[in-house]
Amino acid sequence: LFKLSEIPAPHAIKAQLDEYVIGQEQAKKVIAVAVYNHYKRVFSKTSPDAGKYGTDIDIEKSNILMIGPTGSGKTYLVKTLAKLLDVPLAIADATSLTEAGYIGDDIESVLTKLLAAASGDVQKAEMGIVFIDEIDKIAKKKSTNTRDVSGESVQQELLKLLEGADVEVPVGTGQKNAMTPMEMINTDNILFICGGAFDGIEKKIAQRLNTHVVGYTASQKTAVIDKNNMMQYIAPQDLKSFGLIPEIIGRLPVLTYLNPLDRNALRAILTEPKNSIIKQYIKLFEMDGIKLTFEDSVFEYIVDKAVEYKLGARGLRSIVETIMMDVMFEIPSESKKEYKVTLDYAKQQLEKANMARLQIA
Ligand code: ADP
Repeated sequence: LFKLSEIPAPHAIKAQLDEYVIGQEQAKKVIAVAVYNHYKRVFSKTSPDAGKYGTDIDIEKSNILMIGPTGSGKTYLVKTLAKLLDVPLAIADATSLTEAGYIGDDIESVLTKLLAAASGDVQKAEMGIVFIDEIDKIAKKKSTNTRDVSGESVQQELLKLLEGADVEVPVGTGQKNAMTPMEMINTDNILFICGGAFDGIEKKIAQRLNTHVVGYTASQKTAVIDKNNMMQYIAPQDLKSFGLIPEIIGRLPVLTYLNPLDRNALRAILTEPKNSIIKQYIKLFEMDGIKLTFEDSVFEYIVDKAVEYKLGARGLRSIVETIMMDVMFEIPSESKKEYKVTLDYAKQQLEKANMARLQIA
């Protein structure tokens, strides 16, 4: 279906991700390589030219597990990736999934979404990306006196997809009944990316590192471990205590992490990416013939508030929206050519707004 030379090289994928996603260098690099390998694998399975590389070695899937706090850019990274690769993407929240036959969406609904994203083209869908968020929230139940319809059984069903299976998928609605047309989708060449916050995982990493370095002297121990960034040492065994069945962990061999966004990153996200939040507002105003500008201190203030709300980059958007609301309402009725947002105005707008609403947004 495509040529090997058409798969963008890892450095090219990363360079494109860099235009949109601030920081998260490790994740971008790991994902660029995983995606490159994934599509090479797809090539080796689907292309008639693949024969010249031999048929004796089977490349295994490189599904990805991304760990990072909320608002650190997991979803955004996957969306950007799918866009630049021009492949269909389906996003699902693991907590909304239940075992087939129970109230909630079953796992096949993800493939229904993917097929819709591919405009019904099965072949295209079969080369797409599925992102399943909050994978850390579908732990296996510890007690066994109730049926575990949203924990282990969802994991078991997910496992089938990760391993590669032919799945009959209802087209359009996600509801199965006699009238729904069905399509057969093979998941073998679909790239699965799972994400989760895995709260408290740093402690697990620390514990493991501590037990592993028994036998070394204390000074050696502190010399090698950078305590400020424990995430870099993450290993599959740290995930066990979150109730993921080992088979799932095994099927997500590419493990990477996203850092919580610090002040500098939040500040950069506000103005630097190609489609940064501020650039979006400038464009909106431009369409009304108005040149929108901001006092620099406004950006610092927005970052302060985002840090305070602890929503990562997610907070930025709702803060800017709150600040701009009144202006956006009024300005199209006035004949201004320019508008400057001052720090005083920003403060006044945000304080006026209902803080409680913002905090739960
Ligand atoms: P997560 O999935 O980790 O909870 P999201 O990807 O939904 O977080 O992030 C929310 C929004 O914040 C994104 O839509 C994006 O606009 C912005 N954002 C988050 N992280 C970054 C980043 N590293 N670079 C640029 N924008 C980001």
